[in-house]
Amino acid sequence: MSTELESRTVPPYNHFTQIGDPVLRIRAEEVQPECVDSQEITGIVDQMVKVLRHYDCVGVAAPQLGVPLRIIAMEFREEKREQFTPEVYQQRKMSTLPLSVFINPKIEVMSDTIHTQPEGCMSVRGFSGRVARYDRVKVTGIGMLGTPDELELVGWSARIAQHEMDHLNGIIYIDRMDVSSFTCITWARINSNGGRDAIMFDK
Ligand SMILES: [Zn+2]
Repeated sequence: MSTELESRTVPPYNHFTQIGDPVLRIRAEEVQPECVDSQEITGIVDQMVKVLRHYDCVGVAAPQLGVPLRIIAMEFREEKREQFTPEVYQQRKMSTLPLSVFINPKIEVMSDTIHTQPEGCMSVRGFSGRVARYDRVKVTGIGMLGTPDELELVGWSARIAQHEMDHLNGIIYIDRMDVSSFTCITWARINSNGGRDAIMFDK
């Protein structure tokens, strides 16, 4: 599925910006409506989808590729189900989400129900923490690549949307997590390898 990505040292990157990069902490700018179909914007959108799939993750916001614009892409492919036990898949309320790309998205909370689950971020590579998120949200915006302009999401998909929307406002999940739950996801492997391990920032 994933193809080779050349490394790029100017945005939009082929890697994820990491926490500390100022681009992750500013409010991203609206895309001007007349620019939506421009080569620049469609190129950024294509790149976001390419990187999303290459890294086999479920969401990306433009600032994560170094671009301070309000664009998000989300996808939870059916094949990802195999990466989780049926119990975890069910407990986290995961479900298939077709590729959904929004320019200038807005989010509306549709239910007061909250779920707290472990969450990670490609911009805080190698860690996770428990974050409370709303169970049901509606995303509206300019849908790209066949995405409707309005999409109601539940469970894990709603979580993805809230996480990516946060990125557009300079918020990272660690700002919202239960701090005591912060975890290095390879801690056990670090022990079994006698401390020899590495976090990779490209793929
Ligand atoms: Zn993230």
